[in-house]
Amino acid sequence: MNKRDSEALAACFAERGYSIQEKEQDADIILLNTCSVRDGAEHKAVGKMQMLIAQARLHKEKKIFGIMGCAAQVLGESLVHDLPGIHLVIGTHRYHRIPEYLEALLKDSSKVIVDCSGITEKPVSFQNHLLQRVSPNTIQASAFVNIMHGCNQYCTYCIVPYTRGHEFSRSIEEIVHECEALAKEGIKEIILLGQIVTNFGKREIHVSEDGKTPFVQLLDAIHEIEGIERIRFTAPHPKGYGDDLIESYQRLPKLCQSAHIPVQSGSNRILKEMHRGYTGEHFLEILSKLRNVQPSMGIATDIIVGFPGETDEDFQKTLELVRKARFDNAFLFKYSPREGTPAAKMPNQVPMRIKEERHAELMRVVNELSAEIFQQMIGKTVEVLVEGPSRRNPNRLQGRSRCNKIVLFEGDKDWIGTIRRFRITRSGQYSLYGEEVKN
Ligand code: SF4
Repeated sequence: MNKRDSEALAACFAERGYSIQEKEQDADIILLNTCSVRDGAEHKAVGKMQMLIAQARLHKEKKIFGIMGCAAQVLGESLVHDLPGIHLVIGTHRYHRIPEYLEALLKDSSKVIVDCSGITEKPVSFQNHLLQRVSPNTIQASAFVNIMHGCNQYCTYCIVPYTRGHEFSRSIEEIVHECEALAKEGIKEIILLGQIVTNFGKREIHVSEDGKTPFVQLLDAIHEIEGIERIRFTAPHPKGYGDDLIESYQRLPKLCQSAHIPVQSGSNRILKEMHRGYTGEHFLEILSKLRNVQPSMGIATDIIVGFPGETDEDFQKTLELVRKARFDNAFLFKYSPREGTPAAKMPNQVPMRIKEERHAELMRVVNELSAEIFQQMIGKTVEVLVEGPSRRNPNRLQGRSRCNKIVLFEGDKDWIGTIRRFRITRSGQYSLYGEEVKN
């Protein structure tokens, strides 16, 4: 979400004649987009801004410093005291005012502007800016498209409803228009974004006569766009996997066979305390329905260990669910108390040592299971959208299969942005290696 916000803001500045610098030290204006989902992320953001301001002072450089995103929304005015030298603190619903504020600050850098208002209002969309390639030589195959803002679920551990505000959805027409323009730019894959995408349009759009939720209506509409060959989305909520969405995986060939469905815990007692709104049994039923319509479905999840009051028995239930679910990948988090959320005040906070032990044990099980799944891919042929050079070895290229596995291979730079077929020759911890299949 932050990545897309930063891209849209960069495009908005480019339109106004600014240029985007790759290195912080070359910029006259530095805007730091921040996350506050965990305590560590917030500290990291503030520490980074302190360092940037100190560096500019040391070199006697005059720069404008701004901080945006969830940490700015949560910390607000206090950042002016904690970050002497900051010029702009801007909350998540005020991004559309950033250009105007920066222009004022460029004229008078002695000012400090703090604007974190409007959190309960529908944010003014500034997302329609297409990705403007910073370098004309960069070919981009995928684009993020924001379909909604905010979240009304209020999971008891989560800060997001307080930093991103209430759920508001864009209209199907506006999103389709953005996707059509991206397709004309050569984008082949659309990744729909939102805190809880399966709630898209819940209040604004009716369920269709044939029972399709607004989210599925949106998938149908994007599926019609010529040039778009793949559709993905993140993050859904298990409650959103009704039969209409499950059937879409069979009905819509462009919808990739992958799903990142956060389960968070395998214990029904903890799921209730978390205010998640489903049980472990319901979650497993969704996976089995999905695998029924698409046996090659790649399924990833998020899990929190050490939620307040989590006993050994609760943790065993999480291990049990993970073994049954056989996730392709799982992102594991140690519970981090966020001030202002109900869980931070719950009794029986779990000591860090236990969180670490549970995290390590769960990681071992997840890795073992996913290694088996990756191993089973050897010898299979998969369709890959080529994204660009591999992060670790620039002599190799990388792309993603339809079930969202990273595939590494040797090939020509001209392949970037194209869809090709590869035979998997070996597997690594989190990726597969392949050779192109010509036919
Ligand atoms: S659904 Fe996701 S974003 Fe919303 S409160 Fe729960 S964890 Fe946070």
